[in-house]
Amino acid sequence: MNGTADFDIVIVGGGLAGGLAAVALSQAGFTCALVDAADPAVMRTAAFDGRTTAVSYATARVFRRLGLWDKITDEAEPIRDILVTDGRARSRFDEGTVSSFALHFDSRELGEDTPLGWIVENRFLRNAIFDAIDTDPAISIFAPAKRSGAAFGEGAATIDLDDGRRLCGALIIAADGRFSALRAEASIKTNDWRYKQTGIVATVAHERPHDGVAQEFFLPSGPFAILPMTQNRSSLVWTEKENAAPAYLALSDDAFRREIENRFGPYLGAVTLAGPRWSYPLAFTLAQSFIAPRIALIGDAAHAIHPIAGQGYNLGVKDIAALTDVLRDGRDVGLDIGAMAVLQNYQRWRRFDSASLALGTDLLNRLFSNDFPPLRFARDIGMGAVGKIAPLRKFFMRQAGADLGALPSLMAKES
Ligand SMILES: Cc1cc2nc3c(=O)[nH]c(=O)nc-3n(C[C@H](O)[C@H](O)[C@H](O)COP(=O)(O)OP(=O)(O)OC[C@H]3O[C@@H](n4cnc5c(N)ncnc54)[C@H](O)[C@@H]3O)c2cc1C
Repeated sequence: MNGTADFDIVIVGGGLAGGLAAVALSQAGFTCALVDAADPAVMRTAAFDGRTTAVSYATARVFRRLGLWDKITDEAEPIRDILVTDGRARSRFDEGTVSSFALHFDSRELGEDTPLGWIVENRFLRNAIFDAIDTDPAISIFAPAKRSGAAFGEGAATIDLDDGRRLCGALIIAADGRFSALRAEASIKTNDWRYKQTGIVATVAHERPHDGVAQEFFLPSGPFAILPMTQNRSSLVWTEKENAAPAYLALSDDAFRREIENRFGPYLGAVTLAGPRWSYPLAFTLAQSFIAPRIALIGDAAHAIHPIAGQGYNLGVKDIAALTDVLRDGRDVGLDIGAMAVLQNYQRWRRFDSASLALGTDLLNRLFSNDFPPLRFARDIGMGAVGKIAPLRKFFMRQAGADLGALPSLMAKES
């Protein structure tokens, strides 16, 4: 295709957020162009992204309603319990060594036969999304193609690709990730800082079953999460000081495995590495506005947060579900979907909610990533209190399930 192609919406960034947005908006009746610099064939491979995502039950509803969950369900491990311990390695509730300052979230306490979430490898989420895109005539994919320019006009906006093609839409969605260049070109400022921490990610197989228990405990270098996966494997997200991480990443497989076993303690038995190691520099970015004339930000382009609570993508999915409602409602009453009057509804719905969760996770990380005795004492008291008060525990479980506040129609409870 040469020259200009016209769409209702042009989405820049075909990651987990941009891809899902294309599927949701197409099913709401919009024609979409989806642009990504990477080749989708490469993005589908296991080597592209070694992470797993803790999918909240509200996010799972979105995948179900869009017809994507059937492709994922066999690869999704339910989280039945979450155990949070302000302990050092080896503090384990089933070994009788756990600190009394532990929080146990039990899915059965919510009184529904629903797990607290699911752990899914990112490649399975991505493949389900790309499969839907490939068979949807209302979505045109432009990838690999890098966006090189953008212009936001009175009646429409245009996106230029580095191969000379031009895409035109009533609305541009920036889903180009944490370093979003499109956000900067729309003159949207951010608040951001680095954590001086690296997220080390790896998959391990283990001797004993995990029983669907997700564990998170806090070491002075940062949180350490062990997340239950299918086939008796676990994904670990090990937050390490950025200056110490390279040495761990350079260890031999056997020495790395011993470091993991040392942190896991004995509760999963012998551990073996089941894939390569990955590392992600951790930072906080929050856009000061999620909208500007003819542009809306979603996913990490709007908010990139610490993975301590496994909520980054879940926030992005809520953006997508809310934006879909707002644009559909606007169109149905004859409004221009790129107009600020319509986009303000999205901003009102999502910016405060995202900012409070982003800042909450930032606070949690600061509270728990150090060994300062008075702080340790205060947080242990806090954890002890939450652990003893059932309504508070339920509140935190619903918060983790992203099931609080005004839910967009794709996320609403199924009857
Ligand atoms: C260690 C770790 C663990 C995590 N665990 C969880 C979890 O358990 N649960 C959870 O909810 N979240 C989790 N997250 C967060 C989650 O991974 C991210 O929020 C999510 O992947 C962001 O997706 P995105 O599509 O917004 O951005 P990205 O994945 O960054 O995608 C942006 C896309 O834009 C494209 N792009 C950029 N610039 C251009 C351009 N100029 N032209 C064309 N294309 C362009 C890129 O190629 C890329 O594909 C975790 C994050 C980390 C680091």
